[in-house]
Amino acid sequence: MTTSFDVITLMPQMFNALTIDGVISRAFENKLLELNLWNPRDFVDDIHQSVDDRPFGGGPGMVMMIDPILKALNKIKINHQDKDLGSSKVIYLSPKGNRFDHKKALELSNQDNLILICGRYEGIDQRFIDGWVDEEISVGDYVTSGGELPAMILVDAISRLIPGVLNKNDSYIQDSFYDGLLDHTQYTRSEEFKDLKVPDVLLSGDHKKIAMWRLKNSLYETFKKRPDLLKDRELTTEESRLLQEVIREQEHDSKKRK
Ligand code: SAM
Repeated sequence: MTTSFDVITLMPQMFNALTIDGVISRAFENKLLELNLWNPRDFVDDIHQSVDDRPFGGGPGMVMMIDPILKALNKIKINHQDKDLGSSKVIYLSPKGNRFDHKKALELSNQDNLILICGRYEGIDQRFIDGWVDEEISVGDYVTSGGELPAMILVDAISRLIPGVLNKNDSYIQDSFYDGLLDHTQYTRSEEFKDLKVPDVLLSGDHKKIAMWRLKNSLYETFKKRPDLLKDRELTTEESRLLQEVIREQEHDSKKRK
């Protein structure tokens, strides 16, 4: 089954960043994923190919007009009918939207198709959002110049969660957030860099001990860097014990260093 993304954008060339390199680009090559780019400028007849106009009421900047975006959306829907695709979710990338996170990425990874609309300038005419958008999604409390980078973040993060997309199937299960914790710390060669050593247990070859160390480390990373996550994650008795243990160990080490 192919998961497809239809993106309405005035800057389709930006999406090369997703398809020319990296693990996600291979999934596009292997047809596990499909990306279709639709430029509203291709849906206007006037000689200047205008897709935006001044805001009613005055003020700075321009606003994207409804008609070219709606024509692009209708074309996408006709395309889907021809391909016998089921219903799609229409998402407008917007700083006013629901905050994108792992839970939302997981939810959206179950859709066969997503239609992503990228704004530019001051955004798009509100009447389009009210009439044709299912959900507004934000990538954070800051403003980017257009919806393209936010849309690429969604495509990348959602695609990683689609079975078969990552080289090692399902390796996303070990990533941060998947089970409500941050990932454990990572090390690679050399074993010793100047006087900096890799934790001994990781060189022991004892898989049980390594798994235990990683869980403990992951609990501590979360406790230190994102304690808010622990409020939403009920710890097992074993996890609580490991967390208490590592907190004590760290306190002891820091006292020793002083
Ligand atoms: N005037 C708008 C406001 O203050 O809410 C910002 C417009 S912004 C310069 C242009 C486009 O970038 C928006 O229409 C939206 O598509 C996209 N955008 C900007 N920040 C975003 C964010 N945090 N998340 C998702 N999309 C964003």
